[in-house]
Amino acid sequence: MSEIIRPAHIAISRVVIDEEDAVLPVARLREGAAPSRNGCPFHDVRHMLRDVGLRPTRQRLALGWLLFAKGDRHVSAEILHEEAIKARFPVSLATVYNTLHQFTEVGLLRELAVDGSKTYFDTNPTDHHHFFLEGENNLVDIPSAQVEVERVPEAPEGYEIARIDVVVRLRPKRRG
Ligand SMILES: [Zn+2]
Repeated sequence: MSEIIRPAHIAISRVVIDEEDAVLPVARLREGAAPSRNGCPFHDVRHMLRDVGLRPTRQRLALGWLLFAKGDRHVSAEILHEEAIKARFPVSLATVYNTLHQFTEVGLLRELAVDGSKTYFDTNPTDHHHFFLEGENNLVDIPSAQVEVERVPEAPEGYEIARIDVVVRLRPKRRG
């Protein structure tokens, strides 16, 4: 079997949301990048939570707003926790973790385990790949069209491939 399998042919279990057609409020939040003056970001986050069946608690609303009002980004629980404290929203790191995992379960976020110890949450849950800037601990999106996975191992009995995450690690070029 030397058949070349491309990612597009793999049964990807999640629904891919076309940015153009996206009707999720999260897409509307992204458009503005920063919270707009005439719109009410909390209102959008409330809808977003309702749409995925999560009760809009104060914590989810506040953390959701902090997460999604700044456009596509990759955050760790620690970073979001710091942002919450700076925004004078007292919340424990454990709650931040729980909320991030709840958002991930309903598809609002994508979890990215880059290093064994470091997990990032991507506010863009659509399929795409990443550059990881070593040393800076920073993730940058790669458009999915720029990555082609040519050979994928067969999933073990009883499993199917859910998705493929490609992380391309970068470091500054050495001089000389
Ligand atoms: Zn990303």
